[in-house]
Parts: sequence; structure tokens; C-alpha cells
Amino acid sequence: MILREALLDAYAVLCPVNCAGCGADDRYLCALCRAALVPDLSVRLVGGMRVHCGLDYESRGRRVILAYKEQGRTDVASALAVPLAAAVRAAIAASPLASGSSPVALALVPTGRAAFRRRGYDPVRLLVRRAGGRPERVLLPARTTATQKALGVEDRAQNMRGAFVATRRLDGRRFILVDDILTSGATLTEAARAISAAGGEVLGGATLAFTRRLHAFRDNASAEDYRGRKGAKD
Ligand SMILES: [Zn+2]
Repeated sequence: MILREALLDAYAVLCPVNCAGCGADDRYLCALCRAALVPDLSVRLVGGMRVHCGLDYESRGRRVILAYKEQGRTDVASALAVPLAAAVRAAIAASPLASGSSPVALALVPTGRAAFRRRGYDPVRLLVRRAGGRPERVLLPARTTATQKALGVEDRAQNMRGAFVATRRLDGRRFILVDDILTSGATLTEAARAISAAGGEVLGGATLAFTRRLHAFRDNASAEDYRGRKGAKD
């Protein structure tokens, strides 16, 4: 640990960086923001599906996730892979064990082509890879969908209906669905529908984080704003 810290310090001298979560100097992730990524597992129900979530998105870790997804901070991928891997392991452990059935595979919710072009990477795929997982490409976008950010619960479900299609028949295959943020559950519900429609079985879901809020946050909201709104609502 001490050696690792020393190496990080040496690295920071050579290549100055800022904490992806709070902007503090000299580390790509400061101790406080790193501590916010310690898995904090919870289970949410989406329709009849149990979804294990690695973090509460309404925590300090949110800014690290946003930096990773929207500001190209792939240097935090290994750190964010830890809570996602914990959620995936928990989802697999909670799955019914049927003797003689096929092993559980990880199915990623597809990223839109525009989002991929803009980022240059698929955030969830990269995290699963960093965690040592081998995600399968079993779903594809069937059509373009409006961004979910500005939509309410009903509109999200409507927007996602029929959005994905399986790449092939999945008869006899069993999957855990993997995604980044669980919000309304509309995306996971649609992904599960597409897998079932192709004959596959969805055992559950795993996400990096969950948020109780539909309109999670404006990206520019300060921590004070957020606490104020949270206090008013919850
Ligand atoms: Zn920080």
C-alpha cells in the first residue's frame, strides 16, 4: 500500500492530474472519492426482476461516474469496476441454481451509436472487462431512441419499448443484464423483454449504481443544491 502510494505520488509529479470526483490536485482519485466507491450493495425490484446495484448514485461517487461517462476519465475505470463487479457477483449468487443448466452469461445493455462515437468507448463494457468479465454482445439497438434524461417514468417506458433486438436465438441461455445507472428501470425492462423474445432467460440485473430520482441531477448542480433538494423531497 505504501509503495503504491509512493508510485502514485511519483506518477503525479510526472503527469499532473486532478481527482475525477472533486478536482483535488495530484491524484486521479483522492482518498475521499475513492472511499465513496466502496461497494454499497442494494437490491431494487424492476417489474419482477431483482437488480443488484453497487452504489448509491446520490453519493460522492456520482461525480466520479459522471467524469468517467461524460468527460473521458477512463483512468477511473478500474476503481469503478469494483462496485459493478460486486453487483454482478451478488446478482449471480442470488440466481436460482438449476442443475444441468447453462452457465450464466453477462448481457450488456447496448450503447447508442451516437453515444459511442461521442465517447470513443462503451462505459459499461470497459468496466466489465476491467473486472475480468467477458460480456456477450447479445442485444443491439433496433432503432434510435430519444435520450431518456428529459423523460418521465411513463415516457421512458414508451420510449424504450421495442428499442432492442437480440443478435441471435438465445434458447436455453441464461443471463444477468448489466447496465450503468438504474433509474426508472425502463431500459432493463426492455432489455429483458428482447432476451426473452429470443428464447433466453434473464435471471436478474446488476448496475453500477441506482438513483431514486428520475431526473437524477443537472450535471452542473452543486453539492449544496443537491443536498437542499434532497432534504426538501425525501
Ligand atoms: Zn476527490
